Amino acid sequence: MEERRTALLVVMDGLGDRPVPDLGGRTPLEAADTPVFDRLAQEGQNGLLYVLGPGRTPGSDTAHLALFGYDPHECYPGRGPLEAQGAGLETRPGDVAFRANFATVDDDLVVLDRRAGRAFTAEEGHALEEAIDGMVIDGVEVRFVHTVEHRGALVLRGDGLSAEITDVDPHETGVRVLACRPKAPGAERTAGIVNRLIREAHERLRGLSVNADREARGLPPANIILLRGQGQHKETPTLPEKYGIRCAVLAGGALYIGTAKYVGMEHIPVEGQTGTIDTDFYAIAKKTIECVRAGYDYVFVHIKATDNAGHDHDHRQKVLAIERTDRMVGKVLRAVGRRTVIAVTGDHTTPVSVGEHTCDPVPLVLWREDIRRDGVYRFSEQDAHRGALQWTTGTDVMPLLLGYAGLLHKFGS
Ligand code: ZN
Ligand code: ZN
Repeated sequence: MEERRTALLVVMDGLGDRPVPDLGGRTPLEAADTPVFDRLAQEGQNGLLYVLGPGRTPGSDTAHLALFGYDPHECYPGRGPLEAQGAGLETRPGDVAFRANFATVDDDLVVLDRRAGRAFTAEEGHALEEAIDGMVIDGVEVRFVHTVEHRGALVLRGDGLSAEITDVDPHETGVRVLACRPKAPGAERTAGIVNRLIREAHERLRGLSVNADREARGLPPANIILLRGQGQHKETPTLPEKYGIRCAVLAGGALYIGTAKYVGMEHIPVEGQTGTIDTDFYAIAKKTIECVRAGYDYVFVHIKATDNAGHDHDHRQKVLAIERTDRMVGKVLRAVGRRTVIAVTGDHTTPVSVGEHTCDPVPLVLWREDIRRDGVYRFSEQDAHRGALQWTTGTDVMPLLLGYAGLLHKFGS
């Protein structure tokens, strides 16, 4: 078997784009100055990637599952478990997880503020968290963590749970918190547990001194939690289980960290890595190099700023994010390039002209220094499809990376 290398996947979120009139009809990737990506394109293989298949517009979570080699139609657990893992709560198969909001209700559970004023000190968040975390309802354990502002994540752990239940969050004020109802047979007990949980959380939270203090300062009390985005952790084999590999994720956003952890990656915190253009690209490069040297078989690096720029209709910011990522990959390439196989791509297209995800495929480049070349000279939407990989789907990226990294076993004898 050939020497093992580290498979490195760099995803610029929402990378793909459409021609922008202010850029002379070029896409941000075409307009950006990207000497490193262009070198990878020249020395590597290129293609256009339909991440979820032709015509499908991906969410970031399903797209990343596909890039990790999983069919999201089979294993997508909904947003709750992914957010919960990203927030630092462990989830296991069978657990039902939610995104949670602190909110303000009156005595009849009519919602007065869906975010309870939005701002919380760390002390307040901690006191509120402690009031809910560790509750047990009908034998089901409740884990809760406060994250930022009014947000948090909640996990239910116990036998026979189901995520086939309705939302309790009415998504508007002046309306009573909704009763949770089963959407499928077998979900009645979980719906009942959620209803009891909401009431009991209200009883516990409204008596807390931090809420009395908030009211004394004219702030709305966080006297209930609203749950949404419910999903159930499925029986999904992790990457270490499937391939016997050690995997790391370097990401700034909870959803991306959580999705990677869901499939068995270890989160490697990087000081200064955020989901914005101000993320510390130098620190990310440094930590990536460390991971390669430490012998991780697979390293996933996520850059969010490209997608933010797409949503904000900001082509300048998107060009800048691409150029900074280019320099970051250049540092990694110089330090440990010969020990790696590198794939650079996006999880979907977020055109600055649209401001939302669209179904357009994204460019993919696959590089190792001795791979057969395909005559493409630039990393861009226009050039990519002339390459050897032509039209590829998201779930092909993982086997391509692992195959060229010498991490897949021969099939047959
Ligand atoms: Zn995305
Ligand atoms: Zn997006």
